[in-house]
Amino acid sequence: MQPLRVLELYSGIGGMHYALKESSVPAEVVAAVDVNTTANEIYKHNFPNTPLLPKTIEGMMLQDFDKLNFDMILMSPPCQPFTRIGLQGDVADPRTKSFLYILELLPSRLSKRPRFILLENVKGFETSAARDALLKTLRECDYSFQEFLISPTSLGIPNSRLRYFLIAKRPPGPFSFPTSIMEGFPMSESPDSLTVPHNNPTSSECEREKSGTIIFKLETEQELERKRIQDSQETVRRLQDFLQEDEEDLDQYLLPPKTLLRYALLMDVVQPSFRRSVCFTKGYGHYVEGTGSVLQACVDVELESVFKNLDLLSEADKLKQLLQLKLRYFTPREIANLMGFPADFTFPKHISVKQQYRVLGNSLNVHVLCVLYE
Ligand code: SAH
Repeated sequence: MQPLRVLELYSGIGGMHYALKESSVPAEVVAAVDVNTTANEIYKHNFPNTPLLPKTIEGMMLQDFDKLNFDMILMSPPCQPFTRIGLQGDVADPRTKSFLYILELLPSRLSKRPRFILLENVKGFETSAARDALLKTLRECDYSFQEFLISPTSLGIPNSRLRYFLIAKRPPGPFSFPTSIMEGFPMSESPDSLTVPHNNPTSSECEREKSGTIIFKLETEQELERKRIQDSQETVRRLQDFLQEDEEDLDQYLLPPKTLLRYALLMDVVQPSFRRSVCFTKGYGHYVEGTGSVLQACVDVELESVFKNLDLLSEADKLKQLLQLKLRYFTPREIANLMGFPADFTFPKHISVKQQYRVLGNSLNVHVLCVLYE
């Protein structure tokens, strides 16, 4: 069988390319397209032989596409217009323009319609007008398709990253997944996709009173219960399998005192033996709230005892208490491990840690995508 000719749009650091490689599908990425210079440098560093076009998708002419003669499109359009915490600009957001341009090309303008399309986006896309437009185009072009919402936790990976996926093919035919529209994987996972800390002190005060338990983060009983359940699921691996504990220079990842004092109560703190972490987003390491979990590197100290009555202490004592936990950020490599990037994926030397977090936060879980090729 001839290898599939694959066009990777919005290629970023190549999460989709890695998933394709990991699957056993004979394929070749004939072009990757992205405008982000940092992401492009990382892509080139890891896939030196793949033609990378550093331009906007809407800046590509019909002939440019036709020349590539591709059988498959992989794409992760910008997700900001669809995130639940964003403004949900949807099709009106300028960042959706390039996606609408692709939809316009598909029906009649391309000289050859691709046999396969795979799209990834955030949860929220499934209710967008952009998705309606996509489905309409697919139907018009005689594709059959399936949609999924999947989080890596359903594959035993201790990281929540609930994402929307669509696979389409033509000529239409059956898929290897027996169920269709979003039934293939548990929808019950929705709440674990993003832990947005509860910012309402009054409500959490009430919870504290009611439950009598020590709530060291401003979170609800429901959230605590969900975490307890996650940690008891033995089908999910422990975080320790993904860590770089032998790394020498981990001190640079310790949370600075100012951050500890200011955000201690809002962080999602996890231990190496835990089976969960929240979704790492592009602001990780820079913003603390809701961007990803932090690791308690010293587990000799009980989290609960440190957080108990923290509010009553002086700043200096508070800090002393918190420092005992040795709270640190996950390193970019550890996040890459959790996201299924292989060991040979590396960053060029000059890419800063902050830039590494940014591009990883935009990327996807390679193993999750790989399942869809089966
Ligand atoms: N799947 C990718 C990440 C996708 S994030 C990965 O594994 O890393 C969306 C990407 O689309 C970003 O890298 C962004 O630079 C790129 N992008 C956004 N708008 C674009 C446009 N109009 N043309 C080309 N690339 C674009």
